[in-house]
Amino acid sequence: MSNGYDLRNLAPYACSGATSKGRLYPEPDPVHRTQYQRDRDRIIHSSAFRRLEYKTQVFVNHEGDLFRTRLTHSLEVSQIARSIARKLNLHEDLAETIAIAHDLGHAPFGHAGQDALNRCMKGIGGFEHNLQSLRVVDELEEKYAEFPGLNLSFESREGILKHCSNKDAKKLGDLGQRFLTKNQPSLEAQACDKADEIAYNNHDIDDGVRYGLITTEQLLETQLFREQHEIVMQKYPNISHTCLIHEVIRRMISRMVVDLIDTSRSRIEKLDLHHPDDARNQDGYIVSFSEDMKKQTLELKQFLMTNLYRHYRVQRMTTKAEKVLNALFEAFINDLRILPPDALKHCNRLKEKMGENGIARGVSDYIAGMTDRYAIVEYERIFNPRQLSFANLIP
Ligand code: MG
Repeated sequence: MSNGYDLRNLAPYACSGATSKGRLYPEPDPVHRTQYQRDRDRIIHSSAFRRLEYKTQVFVNHEGDLFRTRLTHSLEVSQIARSIARKLNLHEDLAETIAIAHDLGHAPFGHAGQDALNRCMKGIGGFEHNLQSLRVVDELEEKYAEFPGLNLSFESREGILKHCSNKDAKKLGDLGQRFLTKNQPSLEAQACDKADEIAYNNHDIDDGVRYGLITTEQLLETQLFREQHEIVMQKYPNISHTCLIHEVIRRMISRMVVDLIDTSRSRIEKLDLHHPDDARNQDGYIVSFSEDMKKQTLELKQFLMTNLYRHYRVQRMTTKAEKVLNALFEAFINDLRILPPDALKHCNRLKEKMGENGIARGVSDYIAGMTDRYAIVEYERIFNPRQLSFANLIP
């Protein structure tokens, strides 16, 4: 792709239109936008992006209006990723694009949904949300007359595909190559990966405290929270609880972002990078925390795992979500006649393309695309005998 119009102040190791590996279906260059702005705009106008509003991050969407959803999570990731990208002279538009696309493939009900679908698809390709995000932008969005999916640039797709098994990587051509050769993604993709980690570790604390699942006292066990808590309490001894949590968390985010930028910048300076590929050809991530911050984030993650993600109230929700998805999958697979016409057409198309397994993949795509509330309503329509009136049966 040609550079056309692009950002100023880009470092030679930043991705750009000029060094881009292009799109699967060549297109004329955008006129007043960068290549990655075009990618971002396509994502914002996609159906999958709008559905993020009603998908779980940790808490099911209808539990409360203040909790993070996948949409607000993605926006927080984008905000952090852009700060990092700007400071490191990376392509801010690309960082934003990857951030808002990184969770597009998540099934309803967060990780519980992914695990349930993965079990349903065992032996026939499994289900993995990263790979599904790529399916969404490459195939499932039906919007354009000239190509399937959104036809995003290589760099956006590279960033979306954060993990991949060797088996899947072999089927993905150029995009899967780095998993086989143990190379890295672009620096913009690395920045998004770290921004994701910073965003969820911090907002899960906020949501967990708001939901009453974890307390400030418990959080003092972790160095990251304790240090910032001390600073805030010293400065504002009479602060309200709501402001306290926010003042502590905003400092934690800031501390992590500054550490990440400083550490990454000094690594970049030592490495003498002249092209985005120089960053890809390293043994590990260049964008990363200092050793000390790595230890502290690990401690925080372990705290959240023990006290929040494994909390019995979260677990109940997880178990219920798994039951809903298992039941839906089984009902559709056993009787394709109850699928809405578009979903059935999709299954038949995939059957033609990939044989019998195509049906299961089509059902998995249909379920993965559901929002939390759509999955619950669909479950009610199919299994609740009180919902026998015809109007209730139409999806
Ligand atoms: Mg995420």
